[in-house]
Amino acid sequence: MPDILVYALHYEGAINKNSLGAVSEGARLASEIGGECHAIVVGGDDLTDDLCASLGNHGATKVYRAQAPEGLAQPVVDAMAKVIADNGHGYALFGGGLLGFEVGAGLAARLGAGVAMEVTAVHIEDGKLIAERPILGDSAISQINFRSDVGIIIGRLNAFEAKESGAGAATVEDVQVELSPHAQQATMVQRGEQRGADVDIEGADVLVAGGRGLGKAEGFELVEELAKAFGGNSAVAATRAVVDAGWYPYAAQIGQTGKTVAPKLYLAAGISGAIQHKVGMQSSENIVAINKDANAPIFEFSDLGVVGDLNKIVPKLTEAIKAKKGG
Ligand SMILES: Cc1cc2nc3c(=O)[nH]c(=O)nc-3n(C[C@H](O)[C@H](O)[C@H](O)COP(=O)(O)OP(=O)(O)OC[C@H]3O[C@@H](n4cnc5c(N)ncnc54)[C@H](O)[C@@H]3O)c2cc1C
Repeated sequence: MPDILVYALHYEGAINKNSLGAVSEGARLASEIGGECHAIVVGGDDLTDDLCASLGNHGATKVYRAQAPEGLAQPVVDAMAKVIADNGHGYALFGGGLLGFEVGAGLAARLGAGVAMEVTAVHIEDGKLIAERPILGDSAISQINFRSDVGIIIGRLNAFEAKESGAGAATVEDVQVELSPHAQQATMVQRGEQRGADVDIEGADVLVAGGRGLGKAEGFELVEELAKAFGGNSAVAATRAVVDAGWYPYAAQIGQTGKTVAPKLYLAAGISGAIQHKVGMQSSENIVAINKDANAPIFEFSDLGVVGDLNKIVPKLTEAIKAKKGG
């Protein structure tokens, strides 16, 4: 029966939550097809026995530990290709995120394998994994099965929920990987957490989202002040345009290539309402938009639209909310 190999990314002694979700999903799927879920971790001395074995808590029965640079795609591709060639895994599963996409795509090219990206769910038919991928702006689901020996499934970021299985420690097996010449061309200069990377926009009740209409990175102070005035469980979110411009961290991005949210109140400041943004926030209970262009698409799906300059409206709104809350 095919085993599933899951790539587990780690940073500063902790396995990434998105990867834990992928391991949990791998364990669920493996148990249904009668195989095992194995994980692979790549890195240096920080990969302690305890850290590797802890993946057993999320359902991995075995963890392959490869000594190679972590955080770069090609060394991970080398390591995964070797482990799959030596052990005959039927599937490779990734939790998504930028590195997951890059490694998964590289592995697909290396193995000549089929790959499904942006997967939001996986089910089983006739003992085989079928990946479900939203298409056409999330309005339909395509179902993808694999004809290649190895099927590669890359989840949408945080699509798979991390669940403790209570299964205990996994066995840890060291693998020796000979890096291909091109995998040694890049070196890691620096790693760090993005500002706001820990923002939990998916769990917020109130989201104040900022777009290119804020004008510059400093413009986000306006929406940060407004979110602060709302208080409680509120947070700041962003469009891809401003994330790409480096104005705000990717962790706060809503949309097709970001997170999907459904807060009680979603307030958009300077956001046009592109379809790729809409698919990530359209389930919000109440949508309020501030935009100077009365024809902006966002007004077509807003409960309340305010046409005007956000630089004038947002500070007034912040003051009004503070006043209502008594300070
Ligand atoms: C494959 C793909 C995936 C994508 N994924 C995503 C995604 O996940 N999330 C996402 O958000 N986008 C995504 N995009 C990009 C998307 O198509 C839009 O380009 C993006 O959402 C636009 O961001 P924006 O609304 O901030 O900027 P703009 O479209 O430039 O809109 C800015 C708005 O601000 C208004 N404005 C300007 N100044 C003011 C002012 N002073 N006061 C009030 N209003 C003002 C303007 O009228 C305008 O409507 C994706 C695109 C592609 C092709």
